[in-house]
Amino acid sequence: MSQEIKKYWKNYIDGQWVDAANGERIIVENPATAQPLAEVARATEADVDLAVAAARRCFNSRELYNMRPTNRGALMFEIARHMTEMADEIALAECLDNGKSLNGGKNEALAAARYFTYYGGLADKLEGRMIPLGADYVDYTIPTPFGVSAQIVPWNFPLQIAARSVACALATANTVVLKSPELSPLSTYFIAEACERAGVPKGAVNILCGYGHDCGASLVSHDDVDHIVFTGSLKTGQFILRAAAERVLPCVMELGGKSAGIVFEDADIDQAVNSTAAGIFSNAGQVCSAQSRLIVPKKMESEILERLAAKAATLKVGPGIDNNDITPVISAAQADKIHGMCGAATQAGAEAVCGGGKADMEGHFIQPTIFGSVKSDMTIAQEEVFGPVLAVLTYEDQEEAIQIANGTDYGLCAGLYTKDLATAHWAADQLIAGQVFVNEWFAGGIETPFGGMKRSGYGREKGQEALLNYVQTKNVGIHITGGGGGRPGG
Ligand code: NAD
Repeated sequence: MSQEIKKYWKNYIDGQWVDAANGERIIVENPATAQPLAEVARATEADVDLAVAAARRCFNSRELYNMRPTNRGALMFEIARHMTEMADEIALAECLDNGKSLNGGKNEALAAARYFTYYGGLADKLEGRMIPLGADYVDYTIPTPFGVSAQIVPWNFPLQIAARSVACALATANTVVLKSPELSPLSTYFIAEACERAGVPKGAVNILCGYGHDCGASLVSHDDVDHIVFTGSLKTGQFILRAAAERVLPCVMELGGKSAGIVFEDADIDQAVNSTAAGIFSNAGQVCSAQSRLIVPKKMESEILERLAAKAATLKVGPGIDNNDITPVISAAQADKIHGMCGAATQAGAEAVCGGGKADMEGHFIQPTIFGSVKSDMTIAQEEVFGPVLAVLTYEDQEEAIQIANGTDYGLCAGLYTKDLATAHWAADQLIAGQVFVNEWFAGGIETPFGGMKRSGYGREKGQEALLNYVQTKNVGIHITGGGGGRPGG
């Protein structure tokens, strides 16, 4: 397979591939080499205006809304087919601009395609209700699209995250303006390419890249946007929520996490260790739902740390193009941040049983790192690292384990390892998290609702629940004989 990719990528607005209004570009780097890879058109406010206007025109035309939903679904199946056909090309772009392994990039492409088939299949199954009001009335609800959905995507899984939100929007007849992440934008353009090839109405899906502080901020504060879907950090989420409050816009907020797995005494330790390694080292730990904390019985701490370190020692650090286990983190700034957090953890009294910071190689590589002797109030146990860094904490009794697991501002995911169903059921009930994994981190899939509690956000993506975030309920009450003289409040 050729390892060459296009050197310049344009934005997709109103069904056209266009340069930025001011002609500027953003240079995208390959994190495995720290060398420039490609350029993308840099959208700013003027481009956002064009994209929102296109999305508005398309929404107002009612082309998507008036379409029979099964045909809208069929259109989405076509998008999926084109994404699948381009999977190898997408994998390479994702590997080179994001750092992901080539296999991981291919998974991204196929998962993105699956979002379009999954939600395409649901397009004709979102139904309203008939509400009985007696013989003289017919009353029903209509799940109604919001209009123009502004979507902002982070760099860690740009394609899957974009696909899940665009697919929900199309299934429900909203139109979209999506801002891709400036650090890793390339794979999202393939959604536009697939939409174009599938014959999606122009203006229905617009994809542009720009920086958060100008392009992103212009999009979320645009007067003609009706709905916001944001996936990213808590800090940016809070900024966007303030902008949304001005116009009382509905938002889906998918924010960060500091998710913990609890090992109970009866757990299969090999299973817990393997699952934990997948939970924290996949995608170099740059996963919002990463298992970044492990909570173990005090008396099993040294055995578990030893086994985890042995597992980490088998992982190969290196470029994604060779399908290494620990691929680079996205940027020099991210590597510096992670390295700094590791140093601060050591200073605070945590002990690295393996790794501890940057790997000594070209590109932005971090060694797989495991900290023992971590206390719950340490920064390494409270704040998202977003790198291949695990904090291991201990507990004396099960209530304390739950308390530690619930003891951060976040509530995205949680997990537990036990052979006892009663313990699993009790702990799953106690854990404050949008998704609980039992005996396998990341158990679940496109079909399972995903989203946070507490400061991990609100709203759900994935699964059937997600569609409900893309519609508002309209109730229609009809007095069949036109009786008149109703009364407020029923
Ligand atoms: P980020 O918040 O820095 O950036 C996310 C996106 O927001 C980018 O496209 C960026 O350009 C844009 N942005 C930045 N400032 C903005 C502003 N003022 N207005 C509008 N847009 C702005 O996050 P990141 O560093 O790209 O991603 C990592 C974070 O995302 C982590 O906290 C991670 O947990 C979270 N995340 C959450 C989920 C989830 O589904 N819950 C999934 C992936 C990542």
